[in-house]
Amino acid sequence: MKDCIFCKIINKEIPSCIVYESKEVIAFLDISPINKGHTLVMPKKHYETFLDLPKSELEVLFGKIQEVTKAVIKATNADGFNLLLNNKRAAGQVVDHVHFHVIPRFENDGLKHWPHGKYNEGEDEKIATKIRSFLK
Ligand code: 5GP
Ligand code: ZN
Repeated sequence: MKDCIFCKIINKEIPSCIVYESKEVIAFLDISPINKGHTLVMPKKHYETFLDLPKSELEVLFGKIQEVTKAVIKATNADGFNLLLNNKRAAGQVVDHVHFHVIPRFENDGLKHWPHGKYNEGEDEKIATKIRSFLK
């Protein structure tokens, strides 16, 4: 898509450190890594968010995300990893071309996790009931 920075990388209009590429999927290093080896994996076709991905494309994409993650862990000797997917501005999505972050993690790397909240009496059942109703 015109004006999409990741489409430009995919079309080789701008450079990047590509670690994997097939007809459908590409993976390259994030330019500002959370930890070194931080890799972005995405479909080559431009979709904005996870919800825009056709079900038929998920199997190939997720299979490759797993393979890339294994390679990142081996290459960095990571102790763990985060798989992150930001969708829409409210969730921190900056580039509107759906992409999974594969972030190698290390014991004591100093990165903090999100704070946890807590439910008031009955609030959990209320939201669970609502979610269930949309899954019928
Ligand atoms: P988001 O916040 O949309 O989930 O993540 C966008 C990611 O893309 C950021 O982590 C950012 O560092 C990375 N990024 C932005 N522009 C470029 C670029 O031109 N090249 C590469 N390799 N990564 C980029
Ligand atoms: Zn794009």
